[in-house]
Amino acid sequence: MTDLETAFWTPRLKRRSQRCFLTRPGFMLYDRRAEKYRNPKSRVRTGRSCPGEQVKEALFALLATNDFPEVTGRVCPAPCEGACVLGINEDPVGIKSIECAIIDRGFEEGWIVPNPPKNRTGKKIAIIGSGPAGLAAANQLNKAGHTVTVYERHDRIGGLMMYGIPNMKLDKSILQRRVDLMAAEGINFVTNTHIGEEITIADLKKDNDAVIVATGATVPRNLPIPGRELKGIDFAMTFLHANTKDLLDSNLQDGKYISAKDKDVVVIGGGDTGNDCIGTAVRHGAKSVVNFELLPAPPSERARDNPWPQWPKIFRVDYGHSEVQAKYGRDPREYCVMSKEFVDDGNGNVKGIKTVRVEWTRTRTGWDMKQVEGSEQFFSADMVLLSMGFLGPEDKALGTLERDGRKNVKTAPGQYATSEPGIFAAGDCRRGQSLIVWGINEGRQCAREVDQYLMHSTRLAVTGGIVKRSKLPAELLGRAERANPQQISVAASS
Ligand SMILES: Cc1cc2nc3c(=O)[nH]c(=O)nc-3n(C[C@H](O)[C@H](O)[C@H](O)COP(=O)(O)OP(=O)(O)OC[C@H]3O[C@@H](n4cnc5c(N)ncnc54)[C@H](O)[C@@H]3O)c2cc1C
Ligand code: SF4
Repeated sequence: MTDLETAFWTPRLKRRSQRCFLTRPGFMLYDRRAEKYRNPKSRVRTGRSCPGEQVKEALFALLATNDFPEVTGRVCPAPCEGACVLGINEDPVGIKSIECAIIDRGFEEGWIVPNPPKNRTGKKIAIIGSGPAGLAAANQLNKAGHTVTVYERHDRIGGLMMYGIPNMKLDKSILQRRVDLMAAEGINFVTNTHIGEEITIADLKKDNDAVIVATGATVPRNLPIPGRELKGIDFAMTFLHANTKDLLDSNLQDGKYISAKDKDVVVIGGGDTGNDCIGTAVRHGAKSVVNFELLPAPPSERARDNPWPQWPKIFRVDYGHSEVQAKYGRDPREYCVMSKEFVDDGNGNVKGIKTVRVEWTRTRTGWDMKQVEGSEQFFSADMVLLSMGFLGPEDKALGTLERDGRKNVKTAPGQYATSEPGIFAAGDCRRGQSLIVWGINEGRQCAREVDQYLMHSTRLAVTGGIVKRSKLPAELLGRAERANPQQISVAASS
């Protein structure tokens, strides 16, 4: 078998493909099946056609590729929907809400119970960081029978799923339910332990058979303009972390968070982080909320250079924007704004920002930005939140690991082994700030590589399920054609 499609070939299809090759490529080769549903007789048969039974099947299929669908089903921006074929001329399939419904039903019905591995391999693995990458790797390696310990510097497990994304967007009890399940399956969690301080990565390497670095990309981009040192100017994550921690610790009763109540708030920078700052400031009872964007407003429909199946770069209204619109009567976003200076109130506190508008013109090599003369404007602000992205991982945990040009941990393309034997990297610290779904994927693929490294073979899942056959020696190809996909993947990677 050279491709998955050939598994479905009949002699008639094969003849037809030879006839239509080049004139009717791809899915047009295949006959459309007219029936939308299974035969009614089979649908009404007891047991097999019971919806519960089918949801259960869907649940197992879902969990085979996604360790935390209860998280992605709530907060994934769903790039899959942008690439859905239906999305070319209609609304795409709502994959995200389908996965959320399936996993929620699984928990409601009590189908999801701790399922620790039957045998342990005796191998020990330390994972630094408990975000989606670290947790997905832990989940997979524990299933493979290894003894896994996850180290986290904060007091709660979850990485940015815990202390980045606010509670109103991702209820922390849902995350905690998963962490408790993983603990019941035998994963050890060690919180309040900053690797690089009392314990180093070298110590972990000495005591374990493998180490995975999954520390995220948490260094925020600064805005070093005059007045940056004034009080009231904070990084977005300082604001968001303190808010969630205090909410969980005391329901915001002990005041250990930065309050936006009755303040003029300016959030500089957009994206998920900026939007979460906007939504949180609204809930605190801010007097006003404004969001600066350096770039122009995106178009309402895909631009010509942004075709399907790329992620559509179009104007979106996220929850924070619509809440500001509902409460204050206008969308918070101001486009093409460049901040020039933070202004002092005379007591060392910020009282506003001097800005200028910019103009973008397309050049042969990209875009050119020019300040617009006479467009200077002052925005009142007694709270400024900087949300301009992240520059890479913090140095502390990484020891002497080699870095790439963007300061991320360096590995070979598509692989997870770092410059030091036995030490692997996954997630944002390897690929740069990204999405939870990427973190989960990195954690799973890294776990597979670690399992292979420790056991010289692996049965852990591979992304997509089809292994690139080009790596197989010719004599193995015949054998691989007769083997099942799992055997093929083991053969290919050994
Ligand atoms: C505010 C915000 C909102 C977001 N919203 C979304 C969203 O809605 N949907 C989405 O898909 N993505 C979102 N993202 C992106 C997503 O959260 C990240 O891409 C993802 O969490 C990265 O996973 P990770 O496991 O690589 O790292 P992280 O989640 O960053 O986890 C890394 C963990 O390592 C710990 N750590 C770091 N150094 C050490 C050390 N030396 N010792 C011990 N522990 C250490 C950190 O404390 C942290 O807990 C958001 C990001 C931010 C900042
Ligand atoms: S996790 Fe994957 S399938 Fe689910 S919404 Fe995100 S991109 Fe789509």
